[in-house]
Formats: sequence, structure tokens, C-alpha cells
Amino acid sequence: MKGNFIGGAWVAGARALPNVNPSDTRDLIDHYAQADAAQARHAVDAAAQALPAWSATSPQQRFDVLDQVGGELLARREALGDLLAREEGKTLPEAIGEVVRAGQVFKFFAGEALRLSGESLASVRPGVTVDITREPIGVVALITPWNFPIAIPAWKIAPALAFGNTVVFKPAELVPGSAWALAEILSRSGLPAGAFNLLMGRGAEVGPALVDDPRVAGLSFTGSTATGRSLAQACAARGAKFQLEMGGKNPLVVLDDADLELATHCAVQGAFFSTGQRCTASSRLIVTQGVHDRFVDRLVTRLRSLTVGDARSPGTDLGPVVDERQLDTDLGHIRDAQAQGARLAFGGQPMARDARGHPGFYLQPALFTETDNTMRISREEVFGPVANVIRVRDYDEALAVANDTPFGLSSGVCTTSLKHASHFKRHAQAGMVMVNLPTAGVDYHVPFGGRKASSMGAREQGRYAAEFFTAVKTSYTFA
Ligand code: NAD
Repeated sequence: MKGNFIGGAWVAGARALPNVNPSDTRDLIDHYAQADAAQARHAVDAAAQALPAWSATSPQQRFDVLDQVGGELLARREALGDLLAREEGKTLPEAIGEVVRAGQVFKFFAGEALRLSGESLASVRPGVTVDITREPIGVVALITPWNFPIAIPAWKIAPALAFGNTVVFKPAELVPGSAWALAEILSRSGLPAGAFNLLMGRGAEVGPALVDDPRVAGLSFTGSTATGRSLAQACAARGAKFQLEMGGKNPLVVLDDADLELATHCAVQGAFFSTGQRCTASSRLIVTQGVHDRFVDRLVTRLRSLTVGDARSPGTDLGPVVDERQLDTDLGHIRDAQAQGARLAFGGQPMARDARGHPGFYLQPALFTETDNTMRISREEVFGPVANVIRVRDYDEALAVANDTPFGLSSGVCTTSLKHASHFKRHAQAGMVMVNLPTAGVDYHVPFGGRKASSMGAREQGRYAAEFFTAVKTSYTFA
């Protein structure tokens, strides 16, 4: 049984939860502690007690801690990637890539601890100077989803600590293994007791104890739009800072002048890799009529060649869906789309076992054609290997359909026209725009985030992370 890490000690939870491999449900990874509300309060106690000491550390001390954590993540990428693939179900190469990303994030924010700067200006009043500095905000609660079990925690924990905050980290229930492994590395990194706390537990049970605690100065949340909005209300009610990254229904526009080989690659990568379980997945493929049929043919041929199987088996292209509940959700969307008149051009069948006979939550990638942008399949996030093609007349209609969504995370276009690419970059209503690239797949040194129902609050990652994890102070001196 793996415990929570609170106040520098490993502690048992109120209960424990089994962590099961979605590629092979006979494989029990371990049992992980589940905190109750009282333990959540202990974690906040510990973080609050550690705040004066950690916020007073020098940038060099913070650099050393974060650099060491980043170095260990990079050195142990294979083993940690194996654990991640085993508990979440993305393929081994994707999982190892995610661990590498987490390591790079820690290294980047090690440097940011040293680079954090302010400004000094002359005042409009003679003899007065004005200094603008950044300070830690205090104790932060970090709540993360299951689909990036180590990268998303890394891009919240690293900047929080780099800028002198103390942390209570609550990972998603389905992926405690990667969270625990990251906490174990942090526990040996030289952090003072309580500066970082791991609180595994059910969101509905421990969440309110975190977001309603007046000692928690800020919440950084990634997950579904419904959960994020309810947490935002709780934070706003007591004036706590919040930052939310939520769902998406990302469009990939393919124009008549696109390089079709590249467009097919972008669609397969963006819509189906990581089993489509990405907030940036291109689940709406918006294709102009001149190229529609050829694009669909290519896409179906490509999908036919993909192997769905155990995430850790060589040759697997798509791993399983994360659990039975998500599989049921995916199948519900597939049934609804068919009932609304969409044509299932490929896949969509669940498979009880993969080719090796492993029992898991497997689903053939599903591609729908003959859909329009009003159908449920076009409006709601599925969060699975399911995409639909929407046929449009021309670029203008493509852009209008791309923007006609409650979400606004990532938006892509495949075109060889500089005019269309430039226009799309300016007019796509999304936080991130991709030209001739999949909608998923981003750099770690630049801001990440969306608009509309996809995001609220300051951007994550890169230099922009300081906006959320620091408080600005303006000081005036007459001397
Ligand atoms: P979720 O909202 O169900 O859970 C996210 C986290 O919130 C989990 O840790 C969960 O335990 C916790 N939680 C649930 N109820 C809570 C409550 N009442 N109080 C406090 N915490 C609570 O989302 P999920 O199913 O884990 O993740 C999938 C969603 O995440 C998708 O919508 C996806 O688009 C989104 N996502 C967004 C981004 C992004 O950056 N925009 C990245 C990855 C995933």
C-alpha cells in the first residue's frame, strides 16, 4: 500500500484504492491511500507551516531542488514511463515522452527560479522610485486529471515551488502511481517538510476541504469544464485566486490546397493518438468539399493499419481507454451519433481482449462522416478515440464552423496557402493555433491554455506561469 506524503512523512489514508491496468485488468499495480477531509486539512496545515521557510529560500536553493527532480525524471524515463503506460494506457513511447517532458519542465522552472525579475521605474514624483516585485502567493492546491499523469502535475508543481509557494497536490483517482512516484522523488530532493504534500483522494471528498480552506491562496485545476466551473465559484466566493484548464472540442480544418499526406498525419496524430484522451485532441475534422472524399479514403486506410492493444506491447499504436466508465461514455457518444444520422466510416467497436488475449478496455478508433456541426458528436467532448468529419464548401465556412463551439483550446489548419494560414491564425477563436501540425503537441517553454469554456485565469507554462504563481507588489521609496 502506498501512502500519502504529508508534512515530510508517508502516512496511510482513511481508505485505500486499487490501481488496475486498463490494458490487462488482471494486473493490479498496487493499492494507494485515499484521504478524507480531515487528512486534507492536515495537508493544508503542513503546507501553511512550511510556507515561511520555503518562501524565504534563495533562488539557488529552489534551483537545486527542481534541477535534481528534473534530472532524476530524465534518468528514470524508461521505468517511470512503463508505470505510466501501465496505469493510464497510453503507449510506452508516448508515456516515456511524457516523463521526459516532465523532466524538462522541472529543469526549465529551476532556471525560472533564478530568472524571476521585477521592474524599477522613476516615479512621476521627484525623488521617488517605484519597484515592482513578485512574491509567492502562499499555499496552493493543485488538482489534476488522469490523462497526463506526470506532465500536468509537473507543470503545476514546478512553477509553484520555483516561485516560493508551498503545495498540496491532489492527483486524479485513476492514476495515483505516477503521482506517487513523482512525490517520492520530491521527498528526496531537499525540500523542507511540508513544502510539498501529496494528497490522494476522491475529488468530491477532499476537494471542498482544499478549495474552501481560507489558508489556500490559490487553486490551479486541470480537468472537466463542469468540475472546474464549480471549483471556480467556490474560490471566487472567498476571493482565492484560481486558474482552470478544462475541456476542448478542437477543430482541424483541411483545405482543398492541403498536402493530403501531411493532413492525414495531423488528423490521425491529433484525433486518435493517446487514445484520443487529450484536451487538445482534434475531434472535429472540418474538410472542404474538393478534397473531402480523398481525405476520408486516406484516413480510413491509415486507421485500418493501426494496431489497438496493450499499451506496453511493441507495435501497439493505440492503447486502451482508461477505464470502463470512460469506455461506456465513448460508446454512448458513438451510438448517439449513429442515431442522429452520422455514418460510421470506420471502427467504433469495443474489443474485450487485444491480439495477445489481454482483457482490457479496448476500442477500435471511430471515424464518422456525413455529420454537421449541430450534432451532439460535434458539440460535446468525447475524450476518446472518436472523431467526425464535417464537409464544408470553402475556407470561409470552414473557419465559421471551426469557431462555432463553446470551447476554444486548440485549433488547426492544413493548407499550403499563406493567405489562409495567416487569416486562420488571426481569426481562430482558440488559445493555441496550429498550422500544418496536429492540434495536440506543444512546447513547454511557451504559454499553454485556451479561451471560452476551455480555460479561465492566467496561462500555464513558460514565463507566463509566474502570472498565477506570484503576486505583484508595487513599492514606492522616497530617499
Ligand atoms: P475531472 O474534472 O473529473 O477530474 C479532474 C480532477 O478534479 C481529478 O483530480 C478529480 O478527482 C478532481 N475533482 C473532481 N471533483 C472534484 C471536486 N468536487 N472538488 C475538487 N476536485 C474534484 O476530469 P478528468 O476526467 O480527470 O479529466 C478529463 C478532463 O480534463 C477532460 O475534460 C479534459 O479535456 C480535461 N483536460 C484539460 C486539459 C487542459 O489543459 N485544458 C488537459 C488535460 C485534461
